[in-house]
Amino acid sequence: DQSVCAPLPVLGRDVTVPLVTGGEVAYAALDYAASAPALQRVWDDVAAYAPYYGSVHRGAGYLSQLSTDLFENARRTVAEFLGCREGDQVVFTRSTTDSLNLLADALPADCQVFVFETEHHASLLPWRNARVTYLDAPRSPHQAVETLERALADRDPHGPALVCVTGASNVTGELWPVRELAAAAHAHGARIVLDAAQLAPHHPVSVADLDVDWVAFSGHKLYAPFGSGVLAGRADWLRAAEPYLAGGGASRKVSRREDGGVDVEWHDSAARHEAGSPNVIGAYAVASACRALTEAGFDTLVAREQHLVRTVREGLSDVPQVRFLSLFGDDAPRVGVLSFVVEGWNSSHFAAALSAEYGIGVRDGLFCAHPLLRTLLGSDPQAQGECGSPEAAPGEKSLNAIRVSFGAGTPDEHVERFVRAVR
Ligand code: PMP
Repeated sequence: DQSVCAPLPVLGRDVTVPLVTGGEVAYAALDYAASAPALQRVWDDVAAYAPYYGSVHRGAGYLSQLSTDLFENARRTVAEFLGCREGDQVVFTRSTTDSLNLLADALPADCQVFVFETEHHASLLPWRNARVTYLDAPRSPHQAVETLERALADRDPHGPALVCVTGASNVTGELWPVRELAAAAHAHGARIVLDAAQLAPHHPVSVADLDVDWVAFSGHKLYAPFGSGVLAGRADWLRAAEPYLAGGGASRKVSRREDGGVDVEWHDSAARHEAGSPNVIGAYAVASACRALTEAGFDTLVAREQHLVRTVREGLSDVPQVRFLSLFGDDAPRVGVLSFVVEGWNSSHFAAALSAEYGIGVRDGLFCAHPLLRTLLGSDPQAQGECGSPEAAPGEKSLNAIRVSFGAGTPDEHVERFVRAVR
């Protein structure tokens, strides 16, 4: 039913861009995996609140109190959206990267960390100060669970351990067996954090149902603007850790000692890791996006997205030069994220042509997941410069890839134009 599956109104629909061939065309933003356009509804909510905002937790002023209420309500909305358990904390951060670095900072002493080499750099790199075991890329969800089981069975069973895993790959869009990985982690006394940067915008995520210990996501991929993110989950490690940032808001009591130094009592709540004036507009926007997605209904959103995935796959199925990238197989369940290479083309030039000749914005490069791209492309991304800026001569075998991604705001026409352009 197309009326049920209509795209949600998002910002930027009316943006037109010039074409090298002359004229202008409505911009087709097909890079939702990098940043999704904000929902019109989120923008309207923020605009309605903007005249009233004040600094939170800062006194009796009416607007400060109003903002404090909205900020704390936003925390409750996010907790509900994520199906948090009683006692879980929702910490507002800047992004998924920030959330995972916060958790890395809060690891107990001697924590072992297990992470697949296939992760986005935001989930791969923050643990480097811990004892990290990097796990080889699995070629099926079952193999992912087996690989983790084996690694955990070999671990020192007495110390704390953490597994970090993505819910949906930012490269292949493939869904990872989060529930099974969580069960494996817990069976071996380890905890698990879910990188839901790509999952949360496309699928319902329930901390309690999946039985994960923490979940991290970014507002700007969830149809809210940039600058806000979330880390939600178990309070104990967060409470036991030094604050992520030292400063006002995180501290309950500060006093001079007789020896001239300073004693600090930190908050035990989420405020412990939110020092400084928080991004109250960002938190409000994230909560608005959570409400909008819940009201639209994930069944509807998933159905629409799967329709768009099919449009791409079927539309390009008879183009032999196009090779889609996958770890778990072309038919593995995925969100609206597809990466591919085109034989005989440099992916960056291909993406540039999509933009210049068709007004289509896709991502090209290595997607901040160099080890995964090395596995998928069988080449060495390290040799190709910075994340997303590889150099290859025109006509050379493609050493990087192209990613097309979409979501709740994507009109059919954008995806159909993309298929036509690639063909
Ligand atoms: N994890 C995954 C799976 C991602 O796709 C991204 C963003 N590309 C991140 C983490 C990092 O998100 P952010 O840049 O918002 O911190």
